[in-house]
Amino acid sequence: MQVEKIILNSSVRYLKGVGPKKAEYFEKLGIYTLYDLFHYLPRKYEDRRKIISVKDAQIGENQAVWGTVLKTGLFTARTGRRIFEMSVGDGNKRIYAVWYNQPFLDKIFLPGQKVVLFGKIELQRRLQITHPIFEIITEDSDQKESLEIGRIVPQYSITENITQKYLRKIIYQGLKHHLTDIEEWLPSQIMAKRKLVDTKFAFDNIHFPHSPDNIKRSYKRLVFEEFFMLQLVLALKREKKKQKGIQHKIDEISLKEFEALFDFELTNAQRKCIEDIQRDMSKEEPMHRLIQGDVGSGKTVLAMYALLVAVKNGYQAALMAPTEILARQHFINISEIFMPMGINVQFLVKEADKKAAARIKKDIKGGEINIVIGTHALIQEEVEYKKLGLVVVDEQHKFGVLQRDALRKKGLSPDMLVMTATPIPRSLVLTFFGDMDVSLLKEKPSGRQSAATYWVREDQRASVYAFIREEVSRGRQVFIVYPRVKETETSNLKSVEEMYQELSTKVFSGLRVDMLHGKMKTKEKERIMDEFRGKKCDILIATTVVEVGVDIPNATVMMIEHAERYGLAQLHQLRGRIGRGEYASYCILMGEPSTEEAYERLSAITDIEDGFEIAEKDLDIRGPGEFLGTKQSGLPEIRIGNISKDFDIMEQAREEAKNMVKVDPLLQDKNHSGIKRNLILRFKGKIKSNVRKKKV
Ligand code: ADP
Ligand code: MG
Repeated sequence: MQVEKIILNSSVRYLKGVGPKKAEYFEKLGIYTLYDLFHYLPRKYEDRRKIISVKDAQIGENQAVWGTVLKTGLFTARTGRRIFEMSVGDGNKRIYAVWYNQPFLDKIFLPGQKVVLFGKIELQRRLQITHPIFEIITEDSDQKESLEIGRIVPQYSITENITQKYLRKIIYQGLKHHLTDIEEWLPSQIMAKRKLVDTKFAFDNIHFPHSPDNIKRSYKRLVFEEFFMLQLVLALKREKKKQKGIQHKIDEISLKEFEALFDFELTNAQRKCIEDIQRDMSKEEPMHRLIQGDVGSGKTVLAMYALLVAVKNGYQAALMAPTEILARQHFINISEIFMPMGINVQFLVKEADKKAAARIKKDIKGGEINIVIGTHALIQEEVEYKKLGLVVVDEQHKFGVLQRDALRKKGLSPDMLVMTATPIPRSLVLTFFGDMDVSLLKEKPSGRQSAATYWVREDQRASVYAFIREEVSRGRQVFIVYPRVKETETSNLKSVEEMYQELSTKVFSGLRVDMLHGKMKTKEKERIMDEFRGKKCDILIATTVVEVGVDIPNATVMMIEHAERYGLAQLHQLRGRIGRGEYASYCILMGEPSTEEAYERLSAITDIEDGFEIAEKDLDIRGPGEFLGTKQSGLPEIRIGNISKDFDIMEQAREEAKNMVKVDPLLQDKNHSGIKRNLILRFKGKIKSNVRKKKV
């Protein structure tokens, strides 16, 4: 027989006791290779260390009892069921073990055998265990230790045709024969500093622990190495981006001059962010900065500072926003301030009229335009920049990584500033944006009134409408949001068009009511937003097109219908459209949650005001993959650690990864060759399982 050397990335089917058929079942668990098998960690453990004698058995407990088989018997019940029963005693007391439909056991157990039984001790006229886990203690067993009883026993998630017992055995065998193939690849200084156990110990003890403490230490080691790999990939990516960029001179514009452009003073948080931007832009390597600021914290001003620096240094700059409405708002605000300074600011969206668009593209290429503001249109192939030195992406969570990079690639290593109002919990930032620097904008401009949030039921509708009228009579403006544009036959959700009819002609007759949704023509949307901004409209009935970025400080009421349908982040974004000025604001949620989760969301949004707290809660409810919308591609999958629970380990791993890449950016050091191999193993595994994983 030909013997192939089994290595960690060999298929599990080469293991004794697996074979091609079983290997298929293993695939259902995501286990392809030996490496996967070792990383298939127990879901939990059962402490079966204590083995007691029959006389000490406690009724109602799960216990392991030992004794000698006294008598066995196979019966057939009146129903036809076969029953195998045996009594086991310790010289003092006896207990009965009972199995249904397993007649073969009659051949396995013999009086006189020493056995251990594990299960729930019941009292049914006599002491009994039904279907216990058992082990016969023999002298010549090839397994030196028991996998089932008398130890802490791992419990795995299993699937059809793979039982706990079988899986334990295979993992045990795998470890026994191949654990030696796993080399210690973490440098000893890191292990010492972070108090990590070695890799063999970790795999051994995570599956077959000798004490609860060993589980903890092994878990920590395995999570650390997983996170370390992830952080290493990010650090290496970041290193790669460190080409020569543009060294902007920042003294072209002083903070004082800049501040004088606005009729408010910058908050301390804004000043601090500007300092971060100054530091980054004046460095030779390109800026990669993420600004996280809650809705209304004043991020646009920061973008403007960066734009101005780039232009003063003779470069072009582009600002990309996810919706036409937001892009145009930026264009209006920014051009109003910059145009008088002789800076040419233009606007480009996909639906713009052809002639104008062609002219703008020509001027971008020719370098006549200093700043272009727009949507995805900015990354169209035919848009060429003469000298793009800065890229700003607003509300970056609405864009994919690819779009973000597409804009960056239009320049020659331009500086890059991305902004988001969906606060991303720190644990996720480190995990998925580890290749960026992060500024936090936690403070809101002073004089802001908070937005009180009320969750009301249908029977309060009339008083909500009355309240809206009152606010309008005070000169304020109102958003009312519906989930649909049109009504459909298949749902009873209210829609913008239908409610516009009803509200404008009946409920709010006499007030100036308008509607806005994504299906309207660009020009129409622009006109309606301009009117609302110009206070020529009191109530705007809209879809969630107003969700991101829209800034109307005079609007004080946000009424959201069918609020149970929205995610927490989205509700918080919508609420962020109000409370942006000097007036008290009100967010009114109409919603009838039909699931536990929806109920939790509505309660959370009512109770929690702070965006960062909301984000943590959201992460709690949805889990990280969902939270980020799409699973970020290109990064090793996290299988073991929990990025929010094990956050401190993530931080340690990040620090170590950063340090390592700093001294050895290409991982060429001999001591790091194991790391390199491991990195490849991990990525290969990921690619393979992506390709081969069947849809369940
Ligand atoms: P967001 O962070 O949500 O993008 P914006 O940049 O749209 O916030 O700013 C929200 C509002 O706050 C705007 O009307 C802006 O002019 C105003 N603003 C920004 N900074 C300050 C400040 N330091 N003091 C007062 N108002 C400010
Ligand atoms: Mg904004």
